[in-house]
Amino acid sequence: MSKINITGMTLEEMEEFMASIGQPTFRAKQLFNWLYKRRISDIDEITVFSKKFRSELKEKTEMGHLEIVDRQISADGETNKFLFRLRDGHFIESVFMVDGKRRTVCLSSQVGCALGCSFCATGRMGFKRNLSVGEIVAQLLAVLKAMGTDATNLVFMGMGEPFLNYENVINAATLIGHSDGIAVGRRKITISTAGLVPQIKRFADENQGYKLAISLNAADDATRSELMPINKKYPLRQLIDAAKYYSERSRHLFTFEYLLIAGVNDRKKDVENLKKLLRGVRCKVNIIPYNPTDDRWEAPTEETIEYFLRELLKLHIIVSVRRSKGADIDAACGQLYHFYQDEKQS
Ligand code: SF4
Repeated sequence: MSKINITGMTLEEMEEFMASIGQPTFRAKQLFNWLYKRRISDIDEITVFSKKFRSELKEKTEMGHLEIVDRQISADGETNKFLFRLRDGHFIESVFMVDGKRRTVCLSSQVGCALGCSFCATGRMGFKRNLSVGEIVAQLLAVLKAMGTDATNLVFMGMGEPFLNYENVINAATLIGHSDGIAVGRRKITISTAGLVPQIKRFADENQGYKLAISLNAADDATRSELMPINKKYPLRQLIDAAKYYSERSRHLFTFEYLLIAGVNDRKKDVENLKKLLRGVRCKVNIIPYNPTDDRWEAPTEETIEYFLRELLKLHIIVSVRRSKGADIDAACGQLYHFYQDEKQS
């Protein structure tokens, strides 16, 4: 008989399971709490269960731990990047970042990604498969256990396009938010999309309450399609309309992420196009100076970053510059995986 994986189970599912083996409902709440809040590594650690009951649980269930195969720590110690091996041999990455009092975990939602953005190492892997709810939650549990702390914020900005694994990402986020478990609140969880228009509208209609970030990265269709092929399917006009729809329906501000790359999307005409595009849109803009990983592109100059910031502030919107954390380790999504593969082959 195959064992039931309890990592990723909701409280209701645990209640059903306990009922199915003749146990009272409160046992489910205990299991939920020990698994997600106390972050046990083994059923035997649940001291409120009798030895006999623990043996029965071990016979019938298993925990979906992920194996850490590599971990890189930035020189300042504030960024930790984890490479996990899944049970089927695939790899995924998660990143833990400290910034003042914020402790943010960046989670993967898929193995690889089908969208092939030209600046992204994960895009080069192609799409392998979606992560299950259990695998998404197991990443977080493993990172928090390794770091010995809680997370204040979560971002779905690791490997994969979260909106192409919509149900599992939303279900995982709901589970992560449960007050008897990991307990990261909705407004502390950000889901980042490359700009899938139907899913942005669905997210708005469902009023999920999580924060939304959209990778914009260019203000004209030709440049954006070059950087992000998904733009050919959902061009800028459709994307902006969907983003406006989201802010009207949800009444929440969303963030446009703009990866600033020297000579590609940091020209004077780019900022002018961007100002035109964003006029009247209720949003924040996050400028992320490109962190070169090979010879293909270069980082923007400080003057250009300042110029973009100044010009966008004229729109009376919130604009910030996010320096990439962990620039000395392979902290952009998909880079640790490629590094690991290269090492194995050398
Ligand atoms: S940036 Fe995101 S959406 Fe684009 S290829 Fe990478 S993982 Fe996929």
